[in-house]
Amino acid sequence: MKKIVVTLIASAFIISCDSTKKVHKSEVKSTKIEKVKSAFFIDSLTVKKHLYTLASDEMEGRKTGTPGIEKAAIYIENEFTRIGLTTFNGLETYRQTFKFTPRNSKEDITAANIIGVLEGKSKKDEYVIISAHYDHLGNEGKGDDKIYNGANDDASGVTGVLALAEYFKKVGNERTIVFAAFTGEEMGLIGSTEFGKSIDASVFVAGINLEMIGKVPSFGPNTAWLTGFERSDFGKIIQKNLVGTGYQLYPDPYTNFNLFFRSDNASLARLGVPSHTFSTTPIDVDKDYHKASDEAETLNMTVITQTIQAVAKGTESIINGKDTPTRVVLEASKK
Ligand SMILES: [Zn+2]
Repeated sequence: MKKIVVTLIASAFIISCDSTKKVHKSEVKSTKIEKVKSAFFIDSLTVKKHLYTLASDEMEGRKTGTPGIEKAAIYIENEFTRIGLTTFNGLETYRQTFKFTPRNSKEDITAANIIGVLEGKSKKDEYVIISAHYDHLGNEGKGDDKIYNGANDDASGVTGVLALAEYFKKVGNERTIVFAAFTGEEMGLIGSTEFGKSIDASVFVAGINLEMIGKVPSFGPNTAWLTGFERSDFGKIIQKNLVGTGYQLYPDPYTNFNLFFRSDNASLARLGVPSHTFSTTPIDVDKDYHKASDEAETLNMTVITQTIQAVAKGTESIINGKDTPTRVVLEASKK
């Protein structure tokens, strides 16, 4: 991995007020406090540590079924332990282990989703899942650099899951939050499909999936886009919660890429859960997508940190049980 000097930019959410909207003074004040809270608990140093560890050459591209992904699994488990998460319904550890046969293979491989839980205070039987996939493409590239580090795809998302687990552990949550690092995404959403089989989807009120949140979006800084925006009112709730923060959420502008069905949110959306993916990457022009060049040094730490802070603030009313997004209904042809 090439070494370059990375400038650390203080993670404080820049306090700015959207002058185009009339916002009541007390609202501005509480919004400022909220921003300080998310900036205080979600800092760029921790974000950088998660990202650089998960995307390091030592993890050998985190291909499902390899020793490299095992190292990533252990890192995530240790972080879940440090943060103080509990295990998911019926599991004795953070691992949901299962076997499957990959496409074009005759041999079964053993894989594991890593799942941790923060039980809700007043609505513990209502669940929100925050997820990202920790697997990637492995270490069999053809050029000089053989390791597909998958820094943006999707070490950045897993970094978000870990940072949000730490954040909600500190600030508290009314609904139960399930934090999931899915395996086998690159092999066809295998881990999230397996997870979907193990749950009663009706108790999951929302799915927050993070995918490739490390590059400056085409809409400019302090923005992200959401897949399947029109499929539920989840995105509108997030937009409402972000008013006054200076951060904006847009509908996925790359609808011809069919991204709603290409990440783990789809496995729960197929079960009716309003489950969407946040991303910042200009996927139509991104030269590192599924390349060995998807390295930590190509990512913007400020974008990742501010996006995680925005997800914390944007999903707050859902986590606290004040808003419940409408269910996703898929037309039969797309199932
Ligand atoms: Zn991905």
